[in-house]
Amino acid sequence: MPDFGGDPETHVLPYTDEVRLKTDHLYAKVSGFIPEFEWRLHAPFIAAINDLKHERNAVTHNYMTPEIYHCVGDFAGDSLQLAKEAQRTDADVIVQAGVHFMAETSKILCPEKTVLIPDLRAGCSLAASITGADVRLLKQKYPGAPVITYVNSTADVKAETDICCTSSNAVEVVEYAAKEWDSDIVLFLPDQFLARNVAAMTDVKIITWAGACEVHERFTAQDIREMREGTPGVIVLAHPECPPDVLAEADFAGSTSGIINYVKDKQPKNVVLLTECSMSDNVAAENPNVNFVRPCNLCPHMKRITLPKILTALQTMEHKVEIDADIIEKARGAIERMIALPLTRQSMYTHERAPEVMAVEARV
Ligand code: SF4
Repeated sequence: MPDFGGDPETHVLPYTDEVRLKTDHLYAKVSGFIPEFEWRLHAPFIAAINDLKHERNAVTHNYMTPEIYHCVGDFAGDSLQLAKEAQRTDADVIVQAGVHFMAETSKILCPEKTVLIPDLRAGCSLAASITGADVRLLKQKYPGAPVITYVNSTADVKAETDICCTSSNAVEVVEYAAKEWDSDIVLFLPDQFLARNVAAMTDVKIITWAGACEVHERFTAQDIREMREGTPGVIVLAHPECPPDVLAEADFAGSTSGIINYVKDKQPKNVVLLTECSMSDNVAAENPNVNFVRPCNLCPHMKRITLPKILTALQTMEHKVEIDADIIEKARGAIERMIALPLTRQSMYTHERAPEVMAVEARV
């Protein structure tokens, strides 16, 4: 196994007969997205990573590029599903091929395992919008209001949280928390658009934070109108991290798994996914009879994770995710409270009432 120094992005490995034998079956899954000349660059890294994984373990996320998602990943899903899978695996090492908050979530749920992230700069606009200190100030301002935090957040924010949520259970978690903490208002952090979209589905009063996903906040209702003009009859599916006026124009709004299930079950002729490009590509690979119109937006943070960096992480066992034990304990409580909820349905996002929140707080 070659062991390189320097910038992994400059590494090149030869495409040999051995590599071809080890990877041809994988190319069948991604040939619709990756031209052959590009595949010859990826395949040697895929073969090397998969060889090293006999000793270790790697996970991927739905938003990762197809050559990672389909060719070196062991588990796929949203950030929480990945962390739960990581908990179940008996491997000692987890390479989190996603952004930093996902690696932290894996470490929180599996503190005894070594969790590696291939690029420390793989951040997230949403997670970076708020700190644990911000949450402590909010708690002083709104005493008694339960703190609900989207899983797309850092460990120190989760540690200040009463209960976490995902986009697939956010409405139910808000209603549960208001009842459990006997409060008619809740703090819902840090995504202001998800908060507004939840507010359209519940009577609970929501205070939120001025955070947003830089991928989803860029979609507009005008984009949808133009897509419908360009492809008459196209079905538009939106993630609830998009602004409320975008959801109001869409045919369906739901979490990542909600969107995947919609496409799988309904097999629309033409569909557009208002989400990250790689997620759209990965759903397309699994639904060959559906035509995907692709005005997607790229997540620059997810794209920092590449095959050469995953290989380097496995070779060097860097970069290890470390979190203080007391933060892990508090943050795990917030995640486990959510996991323990007996939720029987996915959150629905229809705009039956105005998507208004009580306040949008920001750092002063
Ligand atoms: S897609 Fe949005 S929420 Fe996900 S990592 Fe990128 S910026 Fe963060």
